[in-house]
Amino acid sequence: MNLAAARLWALTRAPYLASALFALRAVEHDGVLGSDANWNAHEGGKAAMTVDANWNVHVTVDLPAEQAGWWLLHHVGHLLRDHHARARDGAWNLAADAEVNDDLPEAPFPAVSPETLGLPAGLLAEQYLPLLDLIDPPEDLVACPAPPYTAAGALSDVERTLLVRAVAAEIEAARAGVPGGWRRWAEEVLRPSVDWRALLATLVRHGLARSGGRLDHSYRRPSRRQLPDVVLPSMVRPLPRVAVIADTSGSVREPELRRVLGEVDGVLRAGAAQVDVICCDAAAHPPQRVRRAADVRLIGGGGTDLREGLAAAGTLRPDLAVVLTDGATPWPQRRPRYPVVVCLFSPASVPSWAHVVEVAA
Ligand SMILES: [Zn+2]
Repeated sequence: MNLAAARLWALTRAPYLASALFALRAVEHDGVLGSDANWNAHEGGKAAMTVDANWNVHVTVDLPAEQAGWWLLHHVGHLLRDHHARARDGAWNLAADAEVNDDLPEAPFPAVSPETLGLPAGLLAEQYLPLLDLIDPPEDLVACPAPPYTAAGALSDVERTLLVRAVAAEIEAARAGVPGGWRRWAEEVLRPSVDWRALLATLVRHGLARSGGRLDHSYRRPSRRQLPDVVLPSMVRPLPRVAVIADTSGSVREPELRRVLGEVDGVLRAGAAQVDVICCDAAAHPPQRVRRAADVRLIGGGGTDLREGLAAAGTLRPDLAVVLTDGATPWPQRRPRYPVVVCLFSPASVPSWAHVVEVAA
């Protein structure tokens, strides 16, 4: 195959993928590879081109540059998105093709795409997979089978990692003319965002489940076993009580604190918790019982000692404390009596008794 011609075709369509296209190494084979007559088999049933996870392109027959170039872009899409490692059971190849082809120039044959499948654009393969169970994909679509081949790598693991970052940086620099899916991919590679909201929600749920089994004896409601003239204590489950400790020291920027308080609200509302917010700089300020954490009046601006805030929270006997801080603070030596989730604005060391959620800036 004329790799140079195919690469040139691909480069003119997607110059931002140049580093990736030049990293591919062609491995030529005679005749049909293996028994799989299906790999990109739009050439009279002959296997034509595939790639393996080691950035080798396996080719058998000459394809026109337009077709070969399109397949290069397609396979580079799989490689950069690490579809080999992400593979799952089921119609994974179809799902992965839908993710890749979204961002490609129009294919010179009926290719799999969200549009041809009648599915929404811009999803990940993991999201297409369950949707594929619900539809009958058209039969004439040219799908891309799993590569039957592996060969020694064109790139080492380290080189692969560097390449992926380099391509992401090129995409970010190019901006104009780069499809949205590639831009989102580059953003995620360069600034990976663990979904900290989901993590926070999980930790809050766990923390409340761990301590919230507590039942209070209460006289507020009559028991069903109520006897005439005698009110027995009934068992009621009180609202979970959450103390939010907001680091209001001078080093924490208010807009960031406000933003995270807003996010914490969403999580706590789902848990129907009773929320007390304690502003804390060098000292703990009086707790504010608020309907929404974001309603709190932020008081502070001095130095930082969250030991004060955690001690003040302890007097409220919370089921859980959520601390919002940049981490520039002394911490208590001993584990508090309640679970603690720390939402950390910047990298810092936090005691091992706390659950840490890194809050992306
Ligand atoms: Zn494919």
